[in-house]
Amino acid sequence: PSAQLPTLGRRLDAFGPLAGVSGSELEVPLIDGRTVRYANLDYAASAPALDAVIEDQQRILPYYASVHRGAGYASAVSTALYEQSRATVADFVGARGDDLTIFTRNTTDALNLLASAVPDGAEVVCLDIEHHANLLPWQGLGATIVPAAATLAQTLDDLGRVLDETGAGLLAITGASNVTGEVLPLRRLADLAHRHGARIAVDGAQFVPHRKINIAELGVDYLAFSGHKIYAPFGSGALIGRADWLDAAEPYLAGGGAVRKVTVEHTNWATGEARHEGGTPNVLGAAALAAACTAITEIGDDHLRRHEWRLRTRLLSRLAALREVRVLNIWPDCTDAVGVVGFTVTGYDAGLVAAYLSAEHGIGVRDGAFCAHPLAARLDIAGGALRASFGLGSGSDDVDRLLAALRSLINNGP
Ligand code: PLP
Repeated sequence: PSAQLPTLGRRLDAFGPLAGVSGSELEVPLIDGRTVRYANLDYAASAPALDAVIEDQQRILPYYASVHRGAGYASAVSTALYEQSRATVADFVGARGDDLTIFTRNTTDALNLLASAVPDGAEVVCLDIEHHANLLPWQGLGATIVPAAATLAQTLDDLGRVLDETGAGLLAITGASNVTGEVLPLRRLADLAHRHGARIAVDGAQFVPHRKINIAELGVDYLAFSGHKIYAPFGSGALIGRADWLDAAEPYLAGGGAVRKVTVEHTNWATGEARHEGGTPNVLGAAALAAACTAITEIGDDHLRRHEWRLRTRLLSRLAALREVRVLNIWPDCTDAVGVVGFTVTGYDAGLVAAYLSAEHGIGVRDGAFCAHPLAARLDIAGGALRASFGLGSGSDDVDRLLAALRSLINNGP
């Protein structure tokens, strides 16, 4: 039936993935018993590990040992690897020389760590469009949560006013929306925060996998991101930023490694990264994060952007021809976006559409309210929406399969 549909826009050439990722040859069962290649359109949830990262993990596995404690060879190698990984991650995000680069479990962990380090009395301001990871830690501190206005320009004005009124010490904001892919103007936001005497923390979970970031150049004070969204396996992330608040804060995790000297009466805590990295660290995770940073740097920001822009444009230009599909957007004047597309299909429950795409077409998308309930309410999708997201392992075929499946659903039913 899809062959009978009108041609939707200019025919674009087919193109393949930009890099090898794990699971790219995965065959998945369909409800009718056939198997098809899995079309992973859920990179925004977790990006499959890059082949280059997996190879790197295999290379370092023989040196499996605890760091900063042992005198054995493997321990010395692992310690060097862990600290080199830190330097690689710091370099990848353009950290200032005196910034800390603290390894965490993920973005959520990194932002909770930062929230625990905000000095008493410092007001926090954020927007209501945030992923819960960049909302709940601040809500817990009594933050002022500013409603997004109808336009981005108006939202920036509102933020400036609230920063002024509250005398805030920190603006916490996302680099890119996990629901719509819209990219926020980080330099303008950093300038805005600084003009009002506040610092800026950026939730880079959805920004860093898609765009080169240089926090020193942008004036971003803190950045949090997750390894599993930038093609490393699960379990690693980082908080990078200004040392003073972090050195003055209570250690995030009290325990071995976070101290200089302990007596029965008193603990003299370490400063620097060690203060917040109590316990045996995830050395393999740190190395994987660094390997992903290196691989992405080698691919190059230009290639990465172009690849995702082509995928996004292909999907959006053809979705525009489907009357029943509503593509989600927060602001009409936000012109930049990463490879994340949220949408609804009129007349169909999002959960059912996601199940249909999986069972009948072997396509993986996300559905629900995307851990962003206030934004979901604002976009009037509290009942759920769908999200297709792509990355380095995606090709035009994945997008075309999604489009064909949606057309079939709309024309023929499930
Ligand atoms: N922030 C954004 C914008 C996200 O999309 C996500 C995850 O989906 C997070 C934060 C939380 O990331 P993690 O679950 O890796 O901590």
